[in-house]
Amino acid sequence: MYSLTAECAADEAGVRAAELWEAGCRGIEEQELPGGRVSLRAFFEQKPDLPGDWRQEPDTDWEAAVRAAWPAREIGETLYLAPDWDPSPTPPGRTRVTVHPGMAPGTGEHPATELCMVALERHLRPADSVLDLGCGSGILGATAAALGARSVAGCDIDAAAVAVAREHVHFPLFAGSLRCLRAESMDLIAANLNAATLRSLEGEIARVARRCLILSGFRDAEAAAISIPGFRVTDRLSLKQWACLVLLRDGLSEPGKASR
Ligand code: SAH
Repeated sequence: MYSLTAECAADEAGVRAAELWEAGCRGIEEQELPGGRVSLRAFFEQKPDLPGDWRQEPDTDWEAAVRAAWPAREIGETLYLAPDWDPSPTPPGRTRVTVHPGMAPGTGEHPATELCMVALERHLRPADSVLDLGCGSGILGATAAALGARSVAGCDIDAAAVAVAREHVHFPLFAGSLRCLRAESMDLIAANLNAATLRSLEGEIARVARRCLILSGFRDAEAAAISIPGFRVTDRLSLKQWACLVLLRDGLSEPGKASR
């Protein structure tokens, strides 16, 4: 195994990573550096003809290393998040959510993902149809399904992530975003996106969602700037300075009935 370490500006990291995958790398470690830069360390079985800082790496059982990095764990009051290879029994009283921690975002390690899972545990109603918006691995849709949602769908603008996730989840996924959906076609939308993306989608989110929104992917300090027309904030969660807002459509109360 060989590794190549290279530094670039954070907004170039996606393009550099795509080049490394194309050159045949087996995995990439990304580390944030000060000044908006990142360091990429890419691992190759054969050394391709690429310039840079090459090192010979000790032989490692990568599969075992990856498995050790994703132990099953309890989330919220009732959930048990386990990778699909994990044999441990679900603790009594908990609901198992199975994920495949592959290359797509959504392993459950990020505080924003965990917050969305806890918000789903608290606010999902069994009659809800749920959209996992920006599904990555499909972890939020898998949580909604495990919690008994009436129906679940997921979408992501990253077609490659959708193709991988489709092999591992049991609900429909499509490559694309809200524009593909009819008005008020989803009772609940769960979206772990960043603040700028959420702001750019606020009109579309308001159009497609009927009852409830679970929004995360932004810091506590950014939460005040998140609003969706026609919805009001009814719950706030926070973990390691990441925020999650739960919003209900104006005129609806928690159980999904008109309050007027
Ligand atoms: N839902 C997972 C992954 C979140 S990462 C989790 O909670 O852990 C955010 C994902 O949103 C990425 O996969 C990205 O490709 C996707 N995304 C970004 N903008 C989007 C948009 N406008 N519509 C749909 N998906 C989007």
